[in-house]
Amino acid sequence: MAAVKKSLPRRQFDVVVVGAGGAGLRCSLQLAQAGLSVAVLSKVFPTRSHTVAAQGGVSASLGNMSEDHWQWHMYDTVKGSDWLGDQDAIEFMVREAPNAVYELEHFGMPFDRNPDGTIYQRPFGGHTSHFGEKPVQRACAAADRTGHAMLHTLYQRNVAARTQFFVEWMALDLLRNNDGDVLGVTAMEMETGEIYVLEAKHTVLATGGAGRIWAATTNAFINTGDGLGMAARAGIPLQDMEFWQFHPTGVAGAGVLITEGVRGEGGFLLNKDGERFMERYAPQLKDLAPRDFVSRSMDQEIKEGRGCGDGSYVLLKLDHLGAETITKRLPSIREIAIKFANIDPIKDPIPVVPTIHYQMGGIPANYHGQVVTRVNGQEKIVNGLYAIGECAATSVHGANRLGTNSLLDLIVFGRSAGNFIVSQHPEREHSHKPLPDTDIEASLDRVNRLETRTSGEKAQDVANKIRVAMQSHCGVFRKLDLLKEGAEVIASLVPEVQDIYFSDKSKVFNTARIEALEVANMIEVARATTKSAANRLESRGAHALEEYPERDDVNWLKHTLWFSEDDRLEYTPVRMQPLTVDSIPPKPRTF
Ligand SMILES: Cc1cc2nc3c(=O)[nH]c(=O)nc-3n(C[C@H](O)[C@H](O)[C@H](O)COP(=O)(O)OP(=O)(O)OC[C@H]3O[C@@H](n4cnc5c(N)ncnc54)[C@H](O)[C@@H]3O)c2cc1C
Repeated sequence: MAAVKKSLPRRQFDVVVVGAGGAGLRCSLQLAQAGLSVAVLSKVFPTRSHTVAAQGGVSASLGNMSEDHWQWHMYDTVKGSDWLGDQDAIEFMVREAPNAVYELEHFGMPFDRNPDGTIYQRPFGGHTSHFGEKPVQRACAAADRTGHAMLHTLYQRNVAARTQFFVEWMALDLLRNNDGDVLGVTAMEMETGEIYVLEAKHTVLATGGAGRIWAATTNAFINTGDGLGMAARAGIPLQDMEFWQFHPTGVAGAGVLITEGVRGEGGFLLNKDGERFMERYAPQLKDLAPRDFVSRSMDQEIKEGRGCGDGSYVLLKLDHLGAETITKRLPSIREIAIKFANIDPIKDPIPVVPTIHYQMGGIPANYHGQVVTRVNGQEKIVNGLYAIGECAATSVHGANRLGTNSLLDLIVFGRSAGNFIVSQHPEREHSHKPLPDTDIEASLDRVNRLETRTSGEKAQDVANKIRVAMQSHCGVFRKLDLLKEGAEVIASLVPEVQDIYFSDKSKVFNTARIEALEVANMIEVARATTKSAANRLESRGAHALEEYPERDDVNWLKHTLWFSEDDRLEYTPVRMQPLTVDSIPPKPRTF
């Protein structure tokens, strides 16, 4: 093995950032501008990262169109999280929001404009004024292509700052020494199949979400939870993985997203009787209640026989907004509806169903981006490792994320992690620590086993089994026996994942090899999700358990941590104390 290891090419950087979505690019920009050597790895060309698909907007209490304050934004985010969000990180995020958005504006991001030249803002689910009184206009938008505008802006800034991009490179494993410090990654150049060791004084995981462990999802094909798999294999726990967001409006049968911005602009949901049913469930916020709430209401309507068509979906009506608003503010939505539902929303309503969209959980991190683990019941920072964006549980979204708070989380924590690394850098400046040979060997072994196996399971088949199991066991409403069964089914797939093989052994752009490596990450995410969900005996945010329909703050106001090695759960307190203001105490969540 030693001979193979020696032959591995090595590269050294101050920082390796894995992921070129909004989070990775905002972080790398901060680092490159400070003069650090930065390598950004991405499985796809940076501007094809999933951030590009974000539609509706990025939140900030600019108050351009209606009065707004960061305290209102903070209250909405805490309440939206069903009190599982860490209030220090939430305060940090909402206070930074206006500056983070103005900074993007100055970078050249093409926001829509009001007649007075300020940034256009639309209402979004769960965002209110006066602590829950009525919807507020807080989502800064570039039509319904906000993520597209953001990602291209950040990419161009990075090119100007001379960030080094490793395009179509897949990170495989973290390298940790005996002290637990992270010293870089192993990675595969997809074009050649060659494996490299990338040494780094700081390693940033910004690998995005893992929505592809479900059969019906709004997520891109690349969202397979690689960073989570890497962390789990390296002994780092995954936090709050039972909380997955169903977006209320995926196109029925297709899964493609129809932004909440449609309801922000005045669209609403109808059942088969033509009733605007959200008025019954959420008298104040109606169709702009948070996503967990709207998804459950839709599911309830469908279950009680008020679904449309064959009974399996409801309708999203927006024709009353008029052709001009739809073509100006929601052009991509119209295109998606025509292409995927064969419906022109200028004339007819769109068939929609709740669809998996976002993971609230992830790699535990503080608001500097530092990864935090637990050793012998004590919190411990993992030296040299950071997690930002959707792969991280920072945890500002708690048990349920508010729309537009993710794009905000990317730029706020991407920037703060960058700043923190720059501030720490002199200490680690002079040399790279010796690399842990055992980790390099273990990573190589993993790939070599795949290469040499000549029979076994096909990656696609195993991936599909994971997706079917997740889809049928972890729904909008959950049942304990189903969750337990789901955990068993997923556990039973672990040997199949270890038995994956592919017949085409060519090195050049071998997508079969890449899929096989992705499934090894997907299974970790699925194990974490089912195990964590089957053990949380309450309903909170996106985790709605039939047998325990109420939130239970006495027993369950705590974060779940799942450890892969021994499939073990630990719990850790929610940080209820904000940085400068009073804590927002739990109360019933009505809208
Ligand atoms: C359809 C859709 C619409 C959305 N709309 C909104 C919205 O309007 N507002 C909002 O706030 N949020 C929205 N969201 C959520 C938000 O867009 C995402 O949470 C966010 O963009 C994730 O950004 P990220 O930087 O964490 O990761 P991504 O943008 O997902 O990027 C992940 C990066 O990691 C790379 N990567 C992954 N694994 C590896 C590996 N092994 N090796 C190398 N590179 C790797 C990928 O290539 C990619 O570059 C939406 C999400 C979807 C799916």
